[in-house]
Amino acid sequence: MNAKILYRPHHFFCTLGFQGKGYSKDFIKNFSAIKQDLTDETLLKVTLKTDAICAPCPHRQGSLCDKQSKIETLDQAHADALRLSEGDEITWKEAQSRLASLTLDDHRRICKGCRWLDYGLCAQALHKLKSPLL
Ligand code: SF4
Repeated sequence: MNAKILYRPHHFFCTLGFQGKGYSKDFIKNFSAIKQDLTDETLLKVTLKTDAICAPCPHRQGSLCDKQSKIETLDQAHADALRLSEGDEITWKEAQSRLASLTLDDHRRICKGCRWLDYGLCAQALHKLKSPLL
């Protein structure tokens, strides 16, 4: 049986777009390992505090983020868009299905304020998820 991985709402989308960029070497290594190990059946448990991705992040302050207010806004927008509540457990397959239902406009709206938005990697990843044969 797969272990459950703690995930905060905005990191579902971050995982889709993650391509080896991040806040530190350890952060990137950890995120890469988590993404690489994800299978359709992996169970992700929703948390509104710091999660498996945050663990080695230089911005983490215990169970909070040093950008807490900005991160709470992002988490709330993503939780609403993906119909996630604290304590929910969903598979990565279900998470991808919910992500695929988002539009590029939804993406720009719910990720507003994220420093990675303008790189375009998340938009590309969403486009690919929605149109896998293109
Ligand atoms: S910036 Fe904050 S929310 Fe993002 S990974 Fe680091 S600790 Fe977590």
